[in-house]
This record gives sequence, C-alpha cells and structure tokens, in this order.
Amino acid sequence: MSVPKFKRFNLDVYKPGKSRIRNIRDIIKLSANESALGVSPNAQSVIKSKDSKLFRYPDPQSKALRKTISKIFACDENRVICGAGSDEIIQMLCQLFLNPKDEVIVPRYSFLMYRIYSNIVGAKVIFSEEVNYKISVKEILRKVTKKTKIVFIANPNNPTGTYLNYKELKLLRDKLRKNILLVVDDAYYEYMKNKDYKSGLDLFKSKENVFILRTFSKIYGLASLRVGWGYGSKKIIKELNKIKPPFNVNLMAQLAAEAALKDKNFINKSIKHNISEAKKIKNFLSKFNIYTNEVTANFLLLDFDNCFITAERFYRKLQTKGIILRNTFTGYKIKNRLRLTIGSVKENSKFMKATESILN
Ligand SMILES: *Cc1c(COP(=O)(O)O)cnc(C)c1O
Repeated sequence: MSVPKFKRFNLDVYKPGKSRIRNIRDIIKLSANESALGVSPNAQSVIKSKDSKLFRYPDPQSKALRKTISKIFACDENRVICGAGSDEIIQMLCQLFLNPKDEVIVPRYSFLMYRIYSNIVGAKVIFSEEVNYKISVKEILRKVTKKTKIVFIANPNNPTGTYLNYKELKLLRDKLRKNILLVVDDAYYEYMKNKDYKSGLDLFKSKENVFILRTFSKIYGLASLRVGWGYGSKKIIKELNKIKPPFNVNLMAQLAAEAALKDKNFINKSIKHNISEAKKIKNFLSKFNIYTNEVTANFLLLDFDNCFITAERFYRKLQTKGIILRNTFTGYKIKNRLRLTIGSVKENSKFMKATESILN
C-alpha cells in the first residue's frame, strides 16, 4: 500500500522511566520521580466521590483551576495557562516561538523534552556545558547568538539535582538579551528548602520575558492525569491560547489538581518525608563510596566513580531484585551515574537492603 510521504524527524525519542521487569511482578519503581506518598488524599477523594459529568467536554480554559492557582501563588490568573502536563506547554511554546534555524539553548544534561520539541519544529538545539554537573550561567551566555530565541532551564535540574541560587538565576536574566525568552521550569520547586533557592515564579512574576512551568506530576501525585501550568506575559498567554487544543486538560485532572493544591497537609508531609529519606539514603550510599548531589528535589544522582562496581552493573543487579532506577546514559548520556527517585519508607528500605546485599 502506498501512503503519502511523511516528514522525517531526526530525534532521540523520549524513553520514560522503566516501569516493568520481565518475570517480576512486584517491582519497585524509582525511575520517574513520581510522588513517594502517592496521590494527594484530597485529590483522591474528589476523584472517587465526584458525580462528574464525564459526558461533557471539560472547561477549555480550566477557569476554576486557574483561579485557585492565582490565589495560592498570588499571581494573575489571566497570565496562567493549563496544559496536559507541563510537557504540552513546552510543546506549545516551541510551536509559538520557533522557526526553522532559530536557536534554542539547553544545558547538556537537562530535561529531554526541551530538545525534543525544539527539534520537531526544526529549531537548532545548542547545548551549554555544565560545570561539575551544575548549570553554568557563563556557559549559557557564551552560546548566545543573534539567532537565539529561547533558553530552557529546570531549576532544580532533572537529572543532575543541582540548582542555580537566586542570585545566579537573576544574573542569567540580567545578562541575557532582552528579547530572548527565559523558560524556568519549577517542576520540583515544592521540595526545595535550600536557603539560597527561590522559584522562578517568585523571582520573575512580573517579568514579560520569563516563562514559568509548573506541574502536578511530582509532589501532588497526579502524573497519570496529565496536568501542569505555565505563567507568562498576557501577550504570550493570549497567543498560546490560540494554538492550544481546546479541551487539553480533562475534567478529572482539573478537579483533582485544584484539590491537590489545597492539600497543605499532604504537601508538607511530602516535603518532610523527602528531606529525611533523601538524607538517610545519601548517608547510607556514602558508606559504599557512592556519592550524590546535595539533597534538593525528590531524586538523587548517584555517582559510581569511586565505587568498585559500575553504575550499569549495579543497575542490572538491582533489576534482578525488582528495583528500577533511571539509567542516565540512555537519553541524557551521563556516564557512570544513576538517578534514584526517593520512594516510600518501605521502598527505600528495600532499596537499601538490596544495595547492601549487592555491595557487601
Ligand atoms: C517531571 C518533569 C516535568 C513534568 O512533566 P509533566 O508533563 O508535567 O508530567 C517537567 N519538567 C521537568 C524538568 C521534569 O523533571
């Protein structure tokens, strides 16, 4: 059969954190930075109880959700757009801004969706080098050309777990040409209690040339519902709304996201859990000469350079015990490292037991 000729994309396709192992039923998935404590109970009860009108199309503007967002984060609801995950907002930003041959700067070890969506619209992706696995403002600025349109960064960054402090982040905006859009992805900001950290939204709420990304997939525990939001200038939001699929965020996602935002108890519990468990695991691993970044988001990047076993071998041995980490070589191309999501107390202790049995 013949088909019309389709476009050819030269892409490294996104590979999600692995969630299955052959022949093992009860797996422990610590590969996708999902919520350690599951779904926010507030959201859970909305999902269960709501006599929701699923036969109706959802509100295309996610009005109620945007209003709740604006109240909780003291920001302008008219500058908020909701998406089917922050993923979709990254895609829309690329569609809106990028022409073939425009340049986008992303740190080499950054979230893969920035380069994937930029590539799809034909833009040229320029990598800035990290210094010691941390984003370097200087290196980003060195990559700027006349063709640069967008700089994407996640702060803290996935998968390195490092972050720019607020002075460095401000410096980046100050030194970057005014008509370059700085996209700051706050995906993990809720977990951040580090003193010199400020979220992109807190720093740049009133700026026109900064666009902020937020997600419900991490601390709020709604990864499967696909919902996130973006914050930008009124002009940008207006144009994004023109290209947005009309019913992109489903009703359940809108309702659950609102409920999760109001679930202060669950959020505080998740933050406390993350800090204490991450510290515990970091300490534990250092006994085996596996070192990590300082505690920041809900994951750690494990460095095997001083350990007698390679990251790859450890990864495979853990899998035979039903535990999945994120291999950072595929996709990110980071050698001899693994990314570990902080799980529940039970999952973490199983991980530590398995580690002991492999390394002793
Ligand atoms: C997990 C993650 C997201 C969330 O993506 P969604 O599409 O909202 O699930 C966004 N940015 C970064 C850096 C992430 O790690």
